[in-house]
Amino acid sequence: MSGDSQSFSVETSAPKQSHDITELVREVVRAAGKTSGLCHVMVLHSTAAIVVNETDDPSIGTDIQKALDRAVPDHAGWLHDRIDDNAHSHIKAAILGPSESLPVRDGDLVLGTWQRIILMEFDGPRSRRIHVQLLG
Ligand code: ZN
Repeated sequence: MSGDSQSFSVETSAPKQSHDITELVREVVRAAGKTSGLCHVMVLHSTAAIVVNETDDPSIGTDIQKALDRAVPDHAGWLHDRIDDNAHSHIKAAILGPSESLPVRDGDLVLGTWQRIILMEFDGPRSRRIHVQLLG
């Protein structure tokens, strides 16, 4: 694959999980040798999401999952449950979205002190493909 885009896989290990992928994305940025631009990170699945938030306290990931559980209960009469019983996972993924864009400066990701790139798993455990596209 070209230096401007790269994909990698992450193996999640639970039905609901918050998985820090910051260092994996950072490796792609550094290997590409881009000094500045934009880094677009996208999960290539419809029952997982990408967010930028804190992982230093792992309770935050658990709290985000709990908040989404309250907003989108499992098996609450969702139509898609007739197909493969995971409508709640699709809805949570749609609320958070599949991607984030981060600035690149001096060959590295620009992130706040407590910010990390997090893969939010809603229908694991699964192998999740992540695509990183570098722009600019
Ligand atoms: Zn489904």
